Amino acid sequence: MKCLILIPALLSVAVSEPQTAEFSAGQTMAVSKERADQLAEISRTTILAFEKKFKPVTKKGLVYTTDAAKVEGGQSILASKDFAWKLPWFEDASKIFRSAVEEQVRKQLQGQPESVIQSAIDKALASQPKGSAVSKGGDIALGHEIGHMLLISTYWPGHLDRPADQERSGGGHYGGPASDWLDEAAAIAMEGDALTESRRKQFAKIVHGPDKTLVWSLAELVTMKHPALSTKMMEDVKPKDGVAVKRLDSNDPTVKRQGVFYAQIRNLIDFLETKTKNPKVLGEIAENEAAGKGFEDWLKANAAKYTLPANLSALEKEWKVAWPAPSTESATKA
Ligand SMILES: [Zn+2]
Repeated sequence: MKCLILIPALLSVAVSEPQTAEFSAGQTMAVSKERADQLAEISRTTILAFEKKFKPVTKKGLVYTTDAAKVEGGQSILASKDFAWKLPWFEDASKIFRSAVEEQVRKQLQGQPESVIQSAIDKALASQPKGSAVSKGGDIALGHEIGHMLLISTYWPGHLDRPADQERSGGGHYGGPASDWLDEAAAIAMEGDALTESRRKQFAKIVHGPDKTLVWSLAELVTMKHPALSTKMMEDVKPKDGVAVKRLDSNDPTVKRQGVFYAQIRNLIDFLETKTKNPKVLGEIAENEAAGKGFEDWLKANAAKYTLPANLSALEKEWKVAWPAPSTESATKA
């Protein structure tokens, strides 16, 4: 009589393969299938948003979790030459949020005994509503990061094949060879509705409050370096497992300037799309930059087509007229 023997080793073989999911222009890789599917869903939405504002995505990308990269089989997917871009992400999206809470509590209770700090951290985490920021906290930025990748791989193919240390210094820019405002615009334009709305509200608050002095002129905005580059901020970002996390302290002047930079770019995107009635105006500007020309060149070449003024200072005047009225929310607070 034969016996059936279960071999436990089979189980460990099963988990040594990372889970994957496909999206229209690439694939994801995570430890759990649920996570691979989640990341594919966000990637799919982002690709659609990019194609509406730029042009069709023809190259494949890989979004992978750093935990999956450590799993047997993960390395070979990661080494594949099939992908034009590869973006490391978090297996556990709540990780970033949890460490932010922890850091905040530690700062507030500096000098207190560790047991006091630990129980305050537990309490702060427990008080967060389930399924809100705790689970979504990290992923809110994924569309933004994919946007950076899509811009570079679509308009500057080959740039991402360069070694990582050259990448950052490539042209002296923050993310890629594009001008810093356009590089961020592609990313900001890929953010979901919630983040988009909060940036719009923030800009209304900025232009009607004391931070108005931090707003850049149009000529500065379209040629300047990313505000994070002007200080040691980027040097402080230490990639952990390939994902760089920077805890942002809103009182830090550089962080404040960066917030203004992002909010102002969000407003500039809205202004350009409204004025030109061209939903792909960002794509047109990217095409122009890929041909080695700047924003002002684009304006001169297209002003007549869109009935826009042909110089930056005249365009700036029109832009300012279109700035938001004070929101009821910030008016009540003021
Ligand atoms: Zn960015």
